[in-house]
Order: sequence, then C-alpha cells, then structure tokens
Amino acid sequence: MEQTLPRLELRDVSCRFDGAAVVDRLSLSLLPGQVTCLLGPSGCGKSTTLRMAAGVERASAGEILIDGDVVAGPGAHLPPEARGIGMMFQDFALFPHLTVRGNVGFGVRGAARDRVDELIARVGLSDKLDKYPHQLSGGEQQRVALARALAPQPRVMLMDEPFSGLDNRLRDGIRDDTLEILKEEGAAVLLVTHEPEEAMRMADQIALMRRGRIVQQGAPYNIYNNPVDAEAAAFFSDIN
Ligand code: ADP
Ligand code: MG
Repeated sequence: MEQTLPRLELRDVSCRFDGAAVVDRLSLSLLPGQVTCLLGPSGCGKSTTLRMAAGVERASAGEILIDGDVVAGPGAHLPPEARGIGMMFQDFALFPHLTVRGNVGFGVRGAARDRVDELIARVGLSDKLDKYPHQLSGGEQQRVALARALAPQPRVMLMDEPFSGLDNRLRDGIRDDTLEILKEEGAAVLLVTHEPEEAMRMADQIALMRRGRIVQQGAPYNIYNNPVDAEAAAFFSDIN
C-alpha cells in the first residue's frame, strides 16, 4: 500500500534544561494539509517542542525530519531559515517600521514575490497595504502575521498560541478564517494551544500533552468522548 511521507516528524525528541526533561521522548507525525494541535496546560512543554521543530532550540536527544530529511539529530542541526517553515507567535512581532506590504514581503524573493499582494488580499487587507502596524487593530495585525508567515510557501507552519492576544469577540471569526487559509495553502500545521475549545475547533488531530509527554492522540471527537484518564476528562470539562 502506498503511504504518504510525513511532512514533519518528531522521533523520540527530548529537551533537558539543567538535567530536567521538559520534553521527554516525544514522537509526533504530521501529514501535509493536516492541522495538529499540541494541547496541554501551561508549562507542559508545548512551546519548547515547537521551538525544537523550528530549530531555535536544540533537542538533547531524538530526531526531527521534514519530508523525510533529518533536520535535527545526532550530528545534524539545520538553522530555522533552512527548514522551509513558517512561524507565528502570540505577539505578532511585526516590523514596526515596515508597512503591511513591507512586512509580508520581507525576505521574500523570486516567484514568491507575486504572492505578496495576493496573500494580503486573501487576508482582507488590500486597502491597508501602506499602513504601519501601529495603525492596525489587533485582528488586522494577526492577519498580517499570517500572510507574512505564508509568503515563502512554507512546508510546515508552526503556530504558538497565535490567537490568545485577541479580543474574545473577534477570536472565533479569526480562527475560522485562519483555518480556511491554512487549508488552502496545504502546509502541515502544528498549532500550540492551552485551550481545549480551540483544539476542538481547529484540529484534524489533537496531541494531548502533559509534563513533557503526549498522553493521548487522535481525532478531536475521539479525545473528547474517550479521555484517557480523569485528568484528561477534567481538562476538557469546561467546554460546553
Ligand atoms: P508551555 O509552552 O507548555 O507553557 P514551555 O515549553 O514554555 O511550556 O516550558 C516548559 C517548561 O520548561 C517550563 O517549566 C519552563 O519554565 C521550562 N523552560 C522553558 N524554556 C526554558 C529555558 N530556556 N531554560 C530553562 N527552563 C526552561
Ligand atoms: Mg507556551
């Protein structure tokens, strides 16, 4: 039977700080076009996992592969810019001195340049091309950050709590729009969140994390209906 190669694969990846394993032999596999939510309480190691996938943190053990190529492991460490990834964080970290077009086009070369205005239109900001970040609302800044991360056509999108700085009122709409755009683009998405509701809304696959390990993994409805233990059940209990 033909098998699709994982777009991003973590194999027994660990990260130790001062001897303590913050991420402990974690394995995870993402297919192209798939949104995986790494879900767990604050401090369980989600951001560290994402940072290792990005290459801004080194794994102390294990291997990370993108499209079957080892990008991190014994004797290998590709820098973030050589991994074909896009990143988005809670603080959108836009360049304050660059316009919307400047931010989205920053560092984008060649054929991908044509995509810049197209992506800005796709996130609904064509009328704000020449505005600066401080002239935009939080929701608009989030959209610029999304377009910027997607401009170089990343194979993998790494997103760390990208909606948590937003107003409650806006969040659901922005989540839905973001998901639609991510699906069109087709990258494998690893989205970190501590909110079960967000994972239920966005994920094809949820990896439930606790104290550095994945304790349960599967489709959202499966995890919600069959929590692995009382702690997992309690974690999901405030969704209605
Ligand atoms: P999460 O994103 O799930 O909230 P993090 O991955 O940020 O969790 O952090 C997991 C644990 O690792 C926390 O206890 C945090 O204090 C610790 N940690 C993260 N980065 C470092 C670091 N650079 N040095 C030491 N400890 C760290
Ligand atoms: Mg975090």
